[in-house]
Amino acid sequence: MTEIRAIVSDFGGVLTSPMIGSFLRIQEAWDLPLEALGRAMQTVTERDGANPLFELECGRLAEAEFLAKLGDALRDELGRDVPMHAFTEEMWRALQPNHAVFDLFCTLRDEGYRMALLTNNVREWESRWRSMFPIDEVFEVVVDSAFVGMRKPDPRIYELTVGRVGLPAEQCLFIDDMEINVTAAQDVGMAAVHFRENEQAIADIHAALGRDAA
Ligand SMILES: [Mg+2]
Repeated sequence: MTEIRAIVSDFGGVLTSPMIGSFLRIQEAWDLPLEALGRAMQTVTERDGANPLFELECGRLAEAEFLAKLGDALRDELGRDVPMHAFTEEMWRALQPNHAVFDLFCTLRDEGYRMALLTNNVREWESRWRSMFPIDEVFEVVVDSAFVGMRKPDPRIYELTVGRVGLPAEQCLFIDDMEINVTAAQDVGMAAVHFRENEQAIADIHAALGRDAA
C-alpha cells in the first residue's frame, strides 16, 4: 500500500454542514420545490447550451447573472417572482462549519501531512467560505474552480492540484461528499474517501492513512 503524504479535501459538504440543508431551507422559506429549481436549471441549460451552475463554478458566469437567469426561468415555471437576490444569503445562513473534520485536518497538518483544498466554488463566495476557518493556516494549496476555469470531476483539475502539491497522485488522499468527484479522483490515481457523515468519513480517513482511529 502506497504511503499517503497529502490530504486533498473538498470544502462544501465536508468542511460545512450538508449542502442539502441549505436547499431544504430555501424550499421551506420560499415555498420553492427543489424540483422546480432543477427544472429551471435544465431550462437555462437548454437555452444557453451550457449548464449555468457549471459556468458559474468555472468563473465564466457572474453570480448576479446566474441568479438572474435562474430567477427568469423560475418565474416562467412557477408563475411568480422568486427573490433570487436573497438566494446566496439564505443559502449561507444554513451552512455551519464542520469543526470535527477541520480539527482532524489541523491534527494531520501538525503531523506533517501536506494539506490542500480542491473546491468547486463561486468567485463571489470566496470571502464567505474563507471566513469560516483560517484556511491559509492549514492548507498550503487551494484550488478553487472559479479561479482556474475548470471544475470537478474534470480530471485536469485533480492533476493541477496534485501538481501544485508536488506529490504523485497515489500519495494524495482525496475527500469529497459527491460520489462523482470521488470516482474521478480515483480515476487519476488518487486514494479517496467518500464523505457521507462525520463518523464514517473520519474512520475511513484514519483507515486510508493506515492508522487506528484516535
Ligand atoms: Mg462538496
